[in-house]
This record gives sequence, C-alpha cells and structure tokens, in this order.
Amino acid sequence: MLDIKITKTTTPKTKAPDDQLGFGKVFSDHMFIIDYNEGQGWHDARIVPYGPLPMDPSAVVFHYAQECFEGLKAYRTAEDKIQLFRPDCNAKRMQNTQERLCLPVIPEDIFVDAVKALVEVEKDFVPHLDGSSLYIRPFTIATTAQLGVHAAHDAQFIIICSPSGAYYAAGLAPIKIYVEDTYTRAAPGGTGFIKCGGNYAASLLAGEIAEKRGYSQVLWLDGLEQKYVEEVGAMNIFFKIDGKVYTAYANDTDGTVLPGVTRRSVIELLEEWGYDVVIGKLAIETIMQASKEGKLEEVFGTGTAAVISPVKQLDYKTDVAYINDGEIGPLTQKIYDTMTGIQWGRLPDTKGWIVPV
Ligand code: PMP
Repeated sequence: MLDIKITKTTTPKTKAPDDQLGFGKVFSDHMFIIDYNEGQGWHDARIVPYGPLPMDPSAVVFHYAQECFEGLKAYRTAEDKIQLFRPDCNAKRMQNTQERLCLPVIPEDIFVDAVKALVEVEKDFVPHLDGSSLYIRPFTIATTAQLGVHAAHDAQFIIICSPSGAYYAAGLAPIKIYVEDTYTRAAPGGTGFIKCGGNYAASLLAGEIAEKRGYSQVLWLDGLEQKYVEEVGAMNIFFKIDGKVYTAYANDTDGTVLPGVTRRSVIELLEEWGYDVVIGKLAIETIMQASKEGKLEEVFGTGTAAVISPVKQLDYKTDVAYINDGEIGPLTQKIYDTMTGIQWGRLPDTKGWIVPV
C-alpha cells in the first residue's frame, strides 16, 4: 500500500444539497498529489486541502500541453458502501496516454491506491441521491520550468473529486446529434486514442457551434476521408443495425478513438448476451442508408458521465435519420439498467468490475 501523508483541512466546506450538484462544479475538501522528478521517480504522496497549485509560469504544461487526465466515479450503494468501477482500466489508459505524451508513467498500484485513499477521506462527499456519484478526476501535468520544446523531467500526478448529480435527473433522455463534416477530432498517428487535454481544446469549437444549433453533441467522422464514424463528444458510439451491433475501432494502431471503459464493458456484456458485435469501420452513408431501409434500430453513446446516452436523431449534411421514433430502444435500456445496476450495487458484480473502497 502506498505511504500517503494526510493533512486534513481546518476549514471544511458546507456540502451542497445532492439535488443541486450538477456536474463538475463543486469540489471536495482534499486532493491527492504525488511528485515526479527525474532521478528520484515518484515521491511524496500526500493528501492535502483542496486549493490552488503553485506553479512556475514557464512550466511545460502551460505552453506545450504536456498534460493528460482520466475520469471515473465512486458510487454509493443502498447499503451505504462506496465502490469504484474498473479503476484498473483508467490506470492503464492513463499509462498509455503518458507514454504517448512522453510523461512519466504512473504505476497502476499508485493510481488505484491513491484513488481509494482519497475517496476514503472524502467518503462523506459521495452523494446519496439515486444516480448521483463522486466524479474522480486524476490528471498529470508536466512541471519542468523550460520553454524549449522538449519533454519535461518533472511532473505531478494529482487527483481531485467533484460530487455530481444524476446525469439524467429527469430520466434517460434521447439526444440529437450533428454529424460533423467540417472539423475533425483525430487523425491516424495522432492522439485520438489517448486522453490529453489538447484533444478536448481542439474539439470545443465544433461542439459550441452544434450546441448553438440545438444539438447535444457532434458525431466525429474520421480525419482522413470524413467517411467513417468514430465517436461522439466525450462518448463512444454504438449502432444497432438489422440485429447486429457496430462500433468503431479504439486501439493504438488506428489511434483515433478513445478506448472507453464503458465501451469495453458494453462490448463484454453484449457478447455475453449473444449479440454479434462488429468492431471496425462503419461509413456514415451506410448508417443513413440503413435508416432509410428501416434497419437502423438503435443508436447510443457510452461514457462514464452519462453511462448510456440514447440517440434519437442524426443530422448529416441535408439528411436526417430518426431513430426508433425518439423512443429508448429495448437494448439501450437493458444495457443502461445493467451497467448502472452493477455500478450502484443493485445487481451482482459477476465480472469482478467492482472495487470496494
Ligand atoms: N471518448 C471520449 C473522447 C471521451 O472523452 C470519453 C470519456 N472518457 C469516452 C469516449 C468514454 O470513455 P469512458 O467510457 O472511459 O468514460
């Protein structure tokens, strides 16, 4: 177990009521920090009061975006136990990200032990209301003070927590999506498969334009031909066409789609239920054609924040695909119920996905 020095806050916050939390707006009382310096490795693990980070203005993170992050949640069960969902997957994905960005790699046990230790300290911040959770944001920043474009020699791995309300407070609601045909998110050989801040900065403009036009998210097409579907905003996406379920590749060879922990879990469940899951390139034209032929049965996004987002409409150039008359499809509902059932402890964890805190 990681040796962590704990300094408790002397000014605890008044907790916001569970029904007024929203997402990512309020933060718990403490944060975890561990430093990395070349020659010394990772050292000085500590939990300290949440607050500003003193940093040299020339730190590499501010100039060359040598930075990465993760996102996972702690869930409170009906028996008042606190649990995590597959934190090892987030740890491994952060390691892949760090390797791609020339950041020092955080050992998996430090990542998981640190998350557990911080959540243990912050357990009163894990909300009680149905569907709410404590969102956990681990991140790594390059702290070396230098303006030369070189990998930093120093870094910090930090974890903050944000109590968050139910994503669908008024019930699971299907969303409308704009298929982005001007901007792209990722190209082969780039950073699409990792979780670095730069990917998100570059995606903001398309997202803002789509939101102004009344869409929830954009569906990204591939960066070469803008022909194949990749992912949606901060979610992976699945299409049920004529009984089969399709989703894009998400590996470091193709390198353009983030391998979501929810995506991976959904694929494992679908395969267990006997579905034919086709992982590969799926052209947007094929999807629009399937819609015209009445074969586009269900579409849903997957991600830690919403878990499952049913899609009711896809707008591509001048074409529109309406899905399942705006209703939540039976498979989408079953996956949502199963995933959230396991996460909040209503269903047994037969797969070893749950890690108690
Ligand atoms: N794609 C992108 C671009 C994301 O930011 C996320 C959220 N992490 C996902 C997919 C879904 O990943 P996960 O299921 O691990 O949350």
